[in-house]
Amino acid sequence: MRMRKRILAISLSFAFLILFSSGFVCFSLPVISSVFTGLISILYNIAMKLLLHTCCAPCSIYCIKELRSEDIEPTLFWYNPNIHPYAEYKARRDCLREYAKVVGVGLREEDAYGLDEFVCNVYDKITTRCEDYCYPMRLRAAFEYAKTHGFDAVSTTLLYSIYQKHEYIDDLMTGLAEEYGIEFVYRDFREGWQEGQDEARRIGLYMQKYCGCVFSEEESGLGREIGRKMKKAGVSPTNANVRKIIEANKVDNIVRPSLMAETVQREFFTED
Ligand code: SF4
Repeated sequence: MRMRKRILAISLSFAFLILFSSGFVCFSLPVISSVFTGLISILYNIAMKLLLHTCCAPCSIYCIKELRSEDIEPTLFWYNPNIHPYAEYKARRDCLREYAKVVGVGLREEDAYGLDEFVCNVYDKITTRCEDYCYPMRLRAAFEYAKTHGFDAVSTTLLYSIYQKHEYIDDLMTGLAEEYGIEFVYRDFREGWQEGQDEARRIGLYMQKYCGCVFSEEESGLGREIGRKMKKAGVSPTNANVRKIIEANKVDNIVRPSLMAETVQREFFTED
């Protein structure tokens, strides 16, 4: 595939040189040059075989739309052994299968529900689990799959979520791209966060309430509980002050739900 692109680019460059050397287009060189550059870029994108690691259907909406607007046709790649429990894993996977059919996009799957393996790998790094295990495990698998199945480039819907560690993912994928000799297509898909969310709700996709692992499920549930209590107390439940309460209630870096309830009570219901 990469060879095809090179041949394409060389052919177009030759065509341009012939036109230029004939003196036919000298007077409009800048215009012709930009037309050719644009053409090469469009053809390059059309020819690109891009594997898009996909965490769920709602996150894929904007990414697919954006890539298609650049004439890049992605192939989705499902590999998310970080999603627990199995009912949640299945709900997200099945929703993606349906959505892929609806929008007519290719979908490849490494169908692995990996609770045991995930927990064994993060039990001693709960607070750094995203960077130290979850992202590398999934994204390396995407590059591995791309390499063994003839893809030219890799990207991920994790770059769409406003809740993920965007810069870390960018750096990680840049390194993996070098290691595997496969292009990393970076886009800040977060720009379309609201648009994607609105569309997902409009077409009735399954919307998850937490990132994926059981630890994120706990944090998310507690966050919502704190938010409800704050609202009730007339305090704005911003991410920052919800986070403050969670951090204040960690013992040995682990959140203790029972203490959390006490803190919320103390902080916001002292008048009761
Ligand atoms: S919070 Fe999300 S990214 Fe982090 S380990 Fe859990 S599932 Fe993975």
